[in-house]
Amino acid sequence: MKASQTFISTLKEAPADAEIVSHKLMMRAGMIKRLGAGIYNYMPMGLRVIRKVEAIIREEMNRAGAVELLMPVVQPAELWMETGRFQAYGPELLRVKDRHDRDFVIQPTSEEVITDIARQELRSYKQLPRTFYHVQTKFRDERRPRFGVMRGREFTMKDAYSFDRDKASALKSYDTMYRAYCAIFDRFGLTYRAVAADTGAIGGDASHEFQVIADTGEDAIVYCPTSDYAANIELAEALSLIAERAAPAQAMAKTPTPGKSTCEDVAALLGIPLASTVKSLVLATDEKNEAGDIVKTTVWLLLVRGDHALNEVKAGKLPGLKGGFRFATVAEIEDHFGCKPGYLGPIGLKKPVKVVADRTVANMSDFVCGANEPDFHIAGVNWGRDLPEPDLVADIRNVVVGDPSPDGQGVLAIQRGIEVGHVFYLGTKKYSEPMGATYLDENGKPQPFEMGCYGIGVTRILGAAIEQNHDERGIIWPDAIAPFTVAVCPIGYDRNADVKAAADQLHDELAALGVDVVLDDRGERPGAMFADWELIGVPHRIVVSDRGLKTGTVEVQGRRETAANTVPLAEAVAFVK
Ligand code: ATP
Ligand code: MG
Ligand code: MG
Ligand code: MG
Repeated sequence: MKASQTFISTLKEAPADAEIVSHKLMMRAGMIKRLGAGIYNYMPMGLRVIRKVEAIIREEMNRAGAVELLMPVVQPAELWMETGRFQAYGPELLRVKDRHDRDFVIQPTSEEVITDIARQELRSYKQLPRTFYHVQTKFRDERRPRFGVMRGREFTMKDAYSFDRDKASALKSYDTMYRAYCAIFDRFGLTYRAVAADTGAIGGDASHEFQVIADTGEDAIVYCPTSDYAANIELAEALSLIAERAAPAQAMAKTPTPGKSTCEDVAALLGIPLASTVKSLVLATDEKNEAGDIVKTTVWLLLVRGDHALNEVKAGKLPGLKGGFRFATVAEIEDHFGCKPGYLGPIGLKKPVKVVADRTVANMSDFVCGANEPDFHIAGVNWGRDLPEPDLVADIRNVVVGDPSPDGQGVLAIQRGIEVGHVFYLGTKKYSEPMGATYLDENGKPQPFEMGCYGIGVTRILGAAIEQNHDERGIIWPDAIAPFTVAVCPIGYDRNADVKAAADQLHDELAALGVDVVLDDRGERPGAMFADWELIGVPHRIVVSDRGLKTGTVEVQGRRETAANTVPLAEAVAFVK
């Protein structure tokens, strides 16, 4: 392609609201253009990258046996009411009304719609397993849209959904997607980790996030350099363990005080954003008689995620806490849970505990686990707590880390990451059961689908790739997703016939070989021309000049190379190919 046939619009300065490098560079390179908070135009250069990302995703999804379809962006609220998510999703869900005053949602994800399709289309066990996917616009009214495409409100996601007859088969589908994700992120050429993730209070029991490693990432990953262990911090949740093992001096200096320290303290201690922490709070509510004597005390363990949920707790908005609450005392915690404050994990839970999780704060009562579920699975630490005693550390390690690393000396480390993908085994409880989505088994008996869901943030990939690959001159795209792979930069294209002929020929030969090549025919001065392609991040450049042609050569330079390679014109194509 010739540069004049596309649209290039670069900026010297990034707008003031661009905080991180990927956002700045995407704006400067003319990849995106802001329309509103978290809402961007994808300009031609950016769209080329998005299309390449999508193409790789589609190839690997298809290879893994997933079938593409396309579900609507605007979805009737009725389906969302069937699962309760219309209410439960909270303010991130954009709800709209049509002219007849009917409710609709702008999809943040499509479980309800795909489950509706499945309950109509997949009637027999013979049609299973089946995985569908689409690549579609999403809308989430993020509390804090920022960092450009990284946390947009409108963005593109690939979301896939698997339907299986039983759990074993569902976990196979999960594994297939997991492997497809590895193939996809390998092909992007990004450094990433698949980390075990929290499945939530009533989620399934397998979940992994794919995290691109970057210092600016909003998530924190806990990993063991000498073993395969990696988890996001929410799951690891071993806040004190991490604090103690990764930064003992700092942890000692700022030991949270039982009943006094705040989540903010813990977040500050770990240097992580508050929103990505999980807090376990042990609260107590007292019922009093008319004389003001306490007649009954209930101890609650709450798992809250994010400051929104925490604020709901603080404001006493949760059912059960409405009448006021206080932090449980150490004695109450010991008495109630049979363990010391600080470690309230499956091992420590000796008595039934009321567990309230945050996923849908509006609907807390749904998540209260009563006495019938004493073995409710939580690995939690109380945030208002002292540093763990050594045996408690060992317990947490067992829960969180699994087997120790091979030498038994593994030291947990923390890395920051950007969540670019997420695979999640859902089971039957969240969607197929409430929506009555069943198939007939061999005996003609209806059974709910075992489901899984699998997302990739298509547009977020661009930001993540740039966070990992840039320098002071601009973006350095990995070849696989670069807007162009090669930029042919002729000096004097409009005035030197030899330069024009050589540049045209190079362009045509590369194009014929299927190389995504752009020929800069804009007539820019060399400095400005080079600066543009460096900013845009094209991985290879060929400079064709009259001076070079006199000796039959051109200059070929990789975007990461500090000097050009002088290459005979006839070998230039082979050199970049
Ligand atoms: P986050 O924790 O960053 O808010 P999420 O866990 O809410 O993401 P999922 O529901 O797992 O996101 O969606 C699947 C993928 O969609 C995520 O892994 C991420 O790559 C992408 N994604 C989610 N929210 C956004 C957003 N606001 N902007 C861009 N991409 C997003
Ligand atoms: Mg989110
Ligand atoms: Mg997440
Ligand atoms: Mg996620």
